[in-house]
Amino acid sequence: MITIDGSEGEGGGQILRNALALSLITGQPFRLVNIRGRRERPGLMRQHVTAIDAACQTGRAECEGVCIGASEIVFRPGRVEGGEYCFSIGTAGSTSLVLQTVLLPLMRAGSPSRLVLEGGTHNIWAPPFDFLDRCFLPALKRMGGKVGARLVRHGFHPRGGGRVEFEITPAPLHAVDCLSRGALLDMGASVLIAGLPRSIAEEEIRVARKHLEWPDDICSIRELPQDLGPGNILMLEARFEHVTEIVSGVGRLGVSARSIARTAAQRLAGYMATSAFAGPYLADQLILPLALAGGGSFTTVKPTQHTRTAADVISKFLDCTCRFDIREDGSHLVSIS
Ligand code: AMP
Repeated sequence: MITIDGSEGEGGGQILRNALALSLITGQPFRLVNIRGRRERPGLMRQHVTAIDAACQTGRAECEGVCIGASEIVFRPGRVEGGEYCFSIGTAGSTSLVLQTVLLPLMRAGSPSRLVLEGGTHNIWAPPFDFLDRCFLPALKRMGGKVGARLVRHGFHPRGGGRVEFEITPAPLHAVDCLSRGALLDMGASVLIAGLPRSIAEEEIRVARKHLEWPDDICSIRELPQDLGPGNILMLEARFEHVTEIVSGVGRLGVSARSIARTAAQRLAGYMATSAFAGPYLADQLILPLALAGGGSFTTVKPTQHTRTAADVISKFLDCTCRFDIREDGSHLVSIS
């Protein structure tokens, strides 16, 4: 049985999610110890338990040791079946992270799936729904992925209650080389705000505009129904011919709107100053589909620990090599073969 130490590398929940997906796809069982060993509060949280439950139900799998706070599990996969699934996290835990667990296995099932997920849709430390919809899924589409996504209701921390739906049509993935992002087509800033003063959103737009020197007409504020709140996220988007990048800043108690906007703007400016295809988050999310596609490559900003750890976990299940090179112009190239 494959044993994985969840405190190695980046040491967070991504190790668990990638291991679950790879186990369902390859049929190999695994033992995961020291789960989320590098996080402040290690062990399984509510959203990880839901991810395991989703893996068990979609993949007719069994998992020993699952409970909140658990630091060790043993997972034995069965056969992944397409169908109608609904998983409710029960807290504001990220629906995107549950999707990350079962999406690729369901894309290889024998029949289509409709997947409904309830929980958070715009969380800190997770892909906001907009990132999935406009950055990650289009990149997957380049490899042959056929996935439709719909946001039914927004969900913010701490209230949760969001709902997203995915239509997954199984399709083989093929290798792609994502080297160039192409010409810049458009840019924009949008703020979602619910149950909080509009002035927070106005301040975020003001600060982001100032840093990025963007005109007013590409910035928007969307006030959501009060009862979805409190919730606030700033999303800065740059759409290129071949890829879209969204940098987000989630509003939270004790952090000023100004500081959230400044950090997000600096991060987008950092990405814009390179010629990379993938930003730091898209990079760690592309490794697994490319490995399943049999290879491919992409240019990226400096690879994160998440990206390197994804490559390490994949190499335990698949016979594939992931190389990290720096090119002459200083850009980073990730190649999977
Ligand atoms: P972990 O920290 O191990 O639970 O993994 C978090 C996952 O969420 C990784 O796949 C990250 O790429 C992704 N992620 C975190 N923050 C963002 C963000 N702001 N935008 C897009 N993806 C994100």
